[in-house]
Amino acid sequence: MANPILTIVVPCYNEEEVLPETVFRLSAILDGMIAEALISADSTMLLVDDGSKDATWQLIDRFHEANTFVTGLKLARNAGHQSALLAGLMQAKAYSDCVVSIDADLQDDTDVIREFVVKYREGYDIVYGVRQDRSSDTLFKRATAQGFYKLMTSLGVKIHYNHADFRLMSKRTLDEMERFQEVNLFLRGIVPLLGFPSTQVYYDRKERFAGESKYPLRKMLAFAFDGITSFSVTPIRFVTVLGFLLFALSVVAAIYALIGKIVGANVTGWTSLILSVWFIGGVQLLALGLIGEYIGKIYKEVKHRPKFVIEKRLLAPAALEDAPA
Ligand code: UDP
Ligand code: MG
Repeated sequence: MANPILTIVVPCYNEEEVLPETVFRLSAILDGMIAEALISADSTMLLVDDGSKDATWQLIDRFHEANTFVTGLKLARNAGHQSALLAGLMQAKAYSDCVVSIDADLQDDTDVIREFVVKYREGYDIVYGVRQDRSSDTLFKRATAQGFYKLMTSLGVKIHYNHADFRLMSKRTLDEMERFQEVNLFLRGIVPLLGFPSTQVYYDRKERFAGESKYPLRKMLAFAFDGITSFSVTPIRFVTVLGFLLFALSVVAAIYALIGKIVGANVTGWTSLILSVWFIGGVQLLALGLIGEYIGKIYKEVKHRPKFVIEKRLLAPAALEDAPA
């Protein structure tokens, strides 16, 4: 087999502090693999600027001038991690045989990219990077992540534990992924659905090299909720079941109250009345909210808005020939 062209896609949002180090390390890794004849000399990294407010794009621009490995994509506005990643993957697959996605902050071990490529050459289409040691993450982040994976699995969503978006995908898996036209993007849930031969590589998760997490708790929760509601209707079914049970319960309660009335043993009953009003009201609101959530999702999907807008491209000369217009 001819040496495959690899592109490493890196979504970057306000990453000026880490970017020089990231570019340095990824260049070294590409260099090493080219010297070893594992990958083609046309391999590059694609830095996707997700509408950063700092000097991220200026840095990418400068690196592109000085370093032939560096190519760039500038999104016109902040599209979010998942959409920025998708923009990069779709760009890269136009001229790559395989694509590795990795965060800019160097929390994922860049050295295992080589192992990804070795697995790819053995015939795997998807190679998942799985975090073995998360001791660098806070206890809270670990616990919530674990709970999230459990919940997703119990809701029937196939998801890899301790795998974020650090993975290798072959061109044909990316071609298939392009057919998933959903606006509510949760790539981690989509990739296992593709079903191509896949394997896992284990690594230790590190601290962020510099800068702060671009995923505060609020965004993390929203992301988790999106992941669940984009992949499973179980929550809405749960509400239906709950509503049915409550209805059955209230019928029993009504019969009980009627009998009490007939026998003449009714107490004032104010407490139970007020409690049930509140309770049922609460459940109804919950149900409505959940249904609204799904309708909102449907609303977004039917509009079919583009997930990202590309403002500028800085590509390698070889890539420019067959890049999409
Ligand atoms: N990121 C992005 N757009 C955003 C938020 C984050 O492209 O709106 C990028 C960010 O630059 C990083 C990756 O997504 O490369 C993961 O973000 P971060 O490391 O802050 O998340 P954490 O590891 O803390 O979950
Ligand atoms: Mg990070």
